[in-house]
Amino acid sequence: MGEARGTGKWCQPDVPHKGWLCTDVEDLGEPSQVCEMCEVMTIRYIHHMTHQYHPPLEVGCICAGHMEQDLVGARRREAAIKRLRPSWAKSHAGLAGDTWRLKMSIFGFSTEPTAGDFLPIIKYDARAGRIFRIDRTPDGREPIDITDSFAAVFDFENIETGWLNFSGPQPDFKLVKMGEVLPVRPSENHKNGIRLMLKLHPSCAGSDKPVREFSTSAKAALSGIEKVYLAYREGKPANGKLPIVAMRGSTPVKTGTGDRQSTNYVPKFEIVGWAGRPTDLVYIPRGSSGPGPNALPPTPPAQGYAAAKGNGNGAPAWSGGDWGDTPPATGSTRMQAPVAQQLAASVAQTKPADLADDFG
Ligand SMILES: [Zn+2]
Repeated sequence: MGEARGTGKWCQPDVPHKGWLCTDVEDLGEPSQVCEMCEVMTIRYIHHMTHQYHPPLEVGCICAGHMEQDLVGARRREAAIKRLRPSWAKSHAGLAGDTWRLKMSIFGFSTEPTAGDFLPIIKYDARAGRIFRIDRTPDGREPIDITDSFAAVFDFENIETGWLNFSGPQPDFKLVKMGEVLPVRPSENHKNGIRLMLKLHPSCAGSDKPVREFSTSAKAALSGIEKVYLAYREGKPANGKLPIVAMRGSTPVKTGTGDRQSTNYVPKFEIVGWAGRPTDLVYIPRGSSGPGPNALPPTPPAQGYAAAKGNGNGAPAWSGGDWGDTPPATGSTRMQAPVAQQLAASVAQTKPADLADDFG
């Protein structure tokens, strides 16, 4: 990968070298076009770059990264298009031949309704205690309830913690890997949360992509994830295997009083086996950019639980275990589950050793 910046338009003073934006990434199927910036590299993935004072250019990843001064962003974009391709190609077979294109917004992520996020996701609904696989359909997105069959390899090795904002039109994450100092809180709308990648067991993966992103700032979800993460930390084998996690129902927890009382469900995640890292479960770092213009002052480490369980370098662990910054006046009330939650039948009847073979 020697895309030199000493060739082609990099040498032309009338071509801007900074201030470019990527609007589009395209996969030609094979390296078949010369980068219009360095005029040297033959490229397969075309980054379409625009500039206020220059006609658009079609360039390779490295040149794109330099032009927008965000090499990580350019690499991430290209990694994402490589990952997306199989499912996209399947659903668009015959439509576009071997050439296809992922429309990017200027923000660096896709705004195509059918493409959605780069990575398909799962969602935990803390109000219902249910876990959903969000599938892409021609009409948009369809949530599929996989609570009763949920099992997945969790990439706890690369779990990220930090700030999540789901209030805008697109989620905004400012995350670091577990153990690193938390970034500055970008805004009042950002909440403590986590993000991790997982690979669904075939029994709950459906026909869509099994590798998914799971991010949440819901306290109940974080509480359940924290428990199973701590179990992972304690039981983690030396051979680097990752935990196979199943869901065994949920525990309702009441918070607040009177009109403000609400019930949330803490998922009961359990490690039911260990698996070698699936080849397609690849960690893509993201969202670790610096503080935005509206950044708030650094948050002091939380008292009590989070501080006691700090992650080793003074930064607080996520605060899911303590039910948040402002504990309810009456404290949390733990109740029995009203109905015995159904165990994940397919998982419950399968031995852990057999499970590990199913993730590829
Ligand atoms: Zn180039």
